[in-house]
Amino acid sequence: MTAPQPSFKARTDAALADRTLKLAIDRTTDTAERKRAGAVAAFPQFEAARARGRAIKDHVIANLDHYLEQFERNATASGAKVHWASDDAEARAIVTHICLDANAKLVTRAKSMLGEEIGLPHALADAGIERVETDLAEHIIQLACERPSHIVWPAMHRTREQVAELFKVGHHPPPAADDPATMVQSARRELRVKFMSADIGISGANFLVANTGATCTVTNEGNAELTTTPPRIHIVTAGIEKLVPSTAHAFALLRLLVRSATGGELTQYTTFHCGPRRDGDADGPHEMHIVLVDNGRTRMLADEFRDMLRCIRCGACMNHCVVYRQIGGHAYGGFYPGPMGSVLTPVLDGLAASRDLPHACTMNGRRAEVCPVEIPLPTLLRAWRRRGWRSGLENGLPRVAVGLWAQLARRPALYRLGSRIGVRALRLFGKGGWISSVPLAGGWTRHRDLPRPPGRTFMDQYRAKQGRKRGRP
Ligand code: SF4
Repeated sequence: MTAPQPSFKARTDAALADRTLKLAIDRTTDTAERKRAGAVAAFPQFEAARARGRAIKDHVIANLDHYLEQFERNATASGAKVHWASDDAEARAIVTHICLDANAKLVTRAKSMLGEEIGLPHALADAGIERVETDLAEHIIQLACERPSHIVWPAMHRTREQVAELFKVGHHPPPAADDPATMVQSARRELRVKFMSADIGISGANFLVANTGATCTVTNEGNAELTTTPPRIHIVTAGIEKLVPSTAHAFALLRLLVRSATGGELTQYTTFHCGPRRDGDADGPHEMHIVLVDNGRTRMLADEFRDMLRCIRCGACMNHCVVYRQIGGHAYGGFYPGPMGSVLTPVLDGLAASRDLPHACTMNGRRAEVCPVEIPLPTLLRAWRRRGWRSGLENGLPRVAVGLWAQLARRPALYRLGSRIGVRALRLFGKGGWISSVPLAGGWTRHRDLPRPPGRTFMDQYRAKQGRKRGRP
């Protein structure tokens, strides 16, 4: 039995106090932000491509039953076996049964957030099957016994220096030096032997192509190809929202995915897997299984979170989120971190278990601006807040504070008076332009100083400015 997690507040406090974590996040998100901006600037049709990407996903979501049937028919015709899993437990059971039936001892896995979502790593361990993560960042995570903290860069929270320490202990022999090139060589040596001796390779899918029955993976390391080709069995686990009508549609979305995720034009490897090895093929698995996972997705189809099914898991919303950039991914507690995780986790775990997540947002709208498929993340987070409020999950101080604010907001004169008193009172706590603590509001100042307010409300300043413009003192 796993120990209960600390509260969201305790997790964020710990993350905010961790300076090394902040350093690691800044290094990667700064680069990701810069590269995405460069890639978008170099692609003048980006906005048109975004609109097309959104239209493709909306069309598939509106016709999901049709494309699922078409995909199953074509995948089966190509020799793959398609399985349907209504939830995470069923998906785990299907995969572990395939592994146990094949008497598999060693399984390699290419990065897949869906695998994390359905709890595959634990299920394989419980079944006594050795699992080897083959994505370099996932390899780091496995050595550290951690969960991914980002959907594209799972080890974003680890500095190079920390990775060097992990490799020293986890690699046999340890790397000869701790420069990146030597460490990568060491990981290649460790993983190569596993690639070639695995019984089964498990991958996710970036896209499921309905009119061919193919699954598509994109990587920069080639580990998905080495995971899926040498073993005798290849298992794909994928959410049902990964469907696209055709290969051309997959490429239309790839142009958005890669630019938004890494700032590149195309990943190093884009592979379409279409059934198992055929007579005359030089390599490839003898069996291919595709596990199509619902796990709450059809429920989303019917409610106000339907737009979230457009998500192509690019991670751009995390890289541009001011909250994620302060606390990192683990503080969110779910399998999916950041803004998209704050929408998805309540779907997967229930709102009662994750009621703080929709509040981990400043509503500045930046993540919606960068989303390549135009998911209105602030609107969806506000919808969760509204549900939490209406179902009584928010209580105590927040209810009293909002109730008080609502009373004031209905009485403009009183509101102005309250604001004037408030800003003057706040100034009393400041020193040298900054406020380092406020009674009863320690959460605002525990990890940072607040700027001392100028002493007049915004409305007073605005009025004064307008007066000056009209020549009044
Ligand atoms: S919500 Fe949008 S930006 Fe965030 S991971 Fe999904 S597609 Fe990317």
